[in-house]
Amino acid sequence: MSQHPDRTNGVGIFGGTFDPVHIGHLRTSVELRKVLGLAEMRLIPSANPPHREAITSAEHRLAMLQLALSSNSGATAEPGLVADDRELRRKGPSYTVDTLAEIRAEIGTDTPLYLCIGMDALIHLNQWHRWEELADLAHIVTVARPGWHLPKSGEVLEFVRAHRATSADQLQEAPAGKILIMAMTLLPVSATGIRQALQRGESIRYLVPDQVIDYIRQHQLYSD
Ligand code: ATP
Repeated sequence: MSQHPDRTNGVGIFGGTFDPVHIGHLRTSVELRKVLGLAEMRLIPSANPPHREAITSAEHRLAMLQLALSSNSGATAEPGLVADDRELRRKGPSYTVDTLAEIRAEIGTDTPLYLCIGMDALIHLNQWHRWEELADLAHIVTVARPGWHLPKSGEVLEFVRAHRATSADQLQEAPAGKILIMAMTLLPVSATGIRQALQRGESIRYLVPDQVIDYIRQHQLYSD
């Protein structure tokens, strides 16, 4: 008999600038972990995002993420959600392909690895460094985001067609190589909106964990 009645296998990766982390990232991570049956979901702040400038230092962004995932507030930490600081320990641009290769080397060739990205990211996948190698290292799981659709033609569409899966079960059968586009209700929250609210002096309570709000205040982040 299995010792783990709730069969979990595989590692998920949820990357972002997390500037700051918010309930959209956190809730989606919890739900993806459940739907995909993951042992663990690693939230990985991009230290030097290749395609954009973060407003806040990587150290602050990591600290906020760690607080959000910790049990500092008295509540129990969500099991299986982990802040992973590996991109802060590397020099140069934070390329996802390097992160996946590192994690693949750690977990071995058989364990499924899932790269979770928004549809906004998937449609620009061909601009990522060594993008065609991503599916050799991991499955790609995309959460449909309102207002964003797959392109009607082009190399990203061809890539998705070549790797497309129709259910999470299909992904568990292989360690990498499939692309799944999932419908999931997303909370209408963005870090941009949170930064704008802070600049206007408005409350961000309940959009961001309380301990992150305290950190933002303490370090006077996002208020010019
Ligand atoms: P910004 O507004 O600064 O662009 P963001 O809120 O989109 O930030 P990022 O850190 O850039 O957050 O995004 C990291 C990942 O989280 C991306 O894959 C993105 O699609 C996803 N994401 C962003 N907002 C949400 C949300 N409300 N629900 C679920 N996923 C989200």
